[in-house]
Amino acid sequence: MSRSDELFERAVKVIPGGVNSPVRAYGSVGMTPRFIEGATGPYVVDADSKRYIDYISSWGPMILGHNNPEVRNAVIRKAESGLSFGAATESEVEMAEFICENIPSIEMIRMVNSGTEAVMSAIRAARGYTGRNKIVKFAGCYHGHSDALLVKAGSGVMTAGIPDSAGVPAGATQDTLTAVYNNLESVKMLFEENEGQIAAVIVEPVAANMGVVLPKEGFLKGLRELCTKNGTVLIFDEVITGFRLAFGGAQERFGIEADLVTYGKIIGAGMPVGAFGGKREIMEVIAPVGHVYQAGTLSGNPVAMAAGLTQLKILKDHPEIYTNMSHMGDKLYEGMKELVKKYGKPWKVNHICSLGCIYFTDQDVENYEDAKTSDTEEFARYFRYMLEHGVHLGPSQFEAMFLSNAHTEETTKETLDIFEGFLKAE
Ligand SMILES: *Cc1c(COP(=O)(O)O)cnc(C)c1O
Repeated sequence: MSRSDELFERAVKVIPGGVNSPVRAYGSVGMTPRFIEGATGPYVVDADSKRYIDYISSWGPMILGHNNPEVRNAVIRKAESGLSFGAATESEVEMAEFICENIPSIEMIRMVNSGTEAVMSAIRAARGYTGRNKIVKFAGCYHGHSDALLVKAGSGVMTAGIPDSAGVPAGATQDTLTAVYNNLESVKMLFEENEGQIAAVIVEPVAANMGVVLPKEGFLKGLRELCTKNGTVLIFDEVITGFRLAFGGAQERFGIEADLVTYGKIIGAGMPVGAFGGKREIMEVIAPVGHVYQAGTLSGNPVAMAAGLTQLKILKDHPEIYTNMSHMGDKLYEGMKELVKKYGKPWKVNHICSLGCIYFTDQDVENYEDAKTSDTEEFARYFRYMLEHGVHLGPSQFEAMFLSNAHTEETTKETLDIFEGFLKAE
């Protein structure tokens, strides 16, 4: 029995499913999870000392590669002054100033401890600001696990096949309206049917929790126009895309400004951090300035701020990181596409910058319904082959692959060779 299997046996007895987040479970690929002992650069090492090329990158935060020495040292230095004070610190001011200076749409920002919290708080701010209750989300977009947003959410929820979640009262989701990704008409209809009642439209500007689905030309611009026209707050959930598609995230990549933006993942560099920010007049509804309550014992934690800010400064000072990752993304994902074609498979590869994914379907994937046509049994075979040969992927069809700046021409070549091995074996 492997050490991972031993750990899993212990884990399932005391942790539901043996994992602290369902996306880590290997149920949908018919295996038990690998337990990770450490990681450096593009590699993770499991409890049996087996090394893998890693495309999870902690689901995004490790954009510089694992165990970046500058980030690690910033954390160690900061920790020497104490871990948390529950009082204001300079690190929080530095982080907020840095974001407000460098992200044009953001005039004020508040730090929280996860992406879930960031989105939940942004929605509350939008409702408080507009005095309206209804929100629009898109099927297949995931915005964390707060009650109101567990409606047709992507990734973990999708794989488990639970469209909604038990334990969420109908009352909590009655004001959540669901539209079709890449379909502006579906949004227009909701606006017409709910005139003057929609507080916010929230969208993943590139959907990365139903695989990877790119916004069609004009989709995000259309959302911007509809929201402006209806006095609705446009929220870009940039928990994945922020500081990844470009330093300025999807807003920079697509040239569109949202009213509120949510961050997570990269902004904490591996520490538990989230944030939401945007227009001053909206952000000033938040307590203690305004009447929208929002709080957090560990929010803006100085050690977490040190990690996140160190990573963000590296990204800001080295724009070539983004060109490099885009170049590597093209090589990897276009390479997969070519191999798929060479072996006569109809499968689709979607990608943008460092994000990508393969769907085992002959249909172009532009929304949740398309994504669901992927053959998840085929995905499971692909996953198991890749893992067996040293490639660590998210254990679900509906997760993206995350390249980091530490991935190299060699890791790309090795990954493509292994993928070709899978295609040959099929
Ligand atoms: C991961 C994710 C979240 C939730 O973030 P947590 O830190 O896991 O709570 C929200 N929105 C998007 C787009 C995400 O990918």
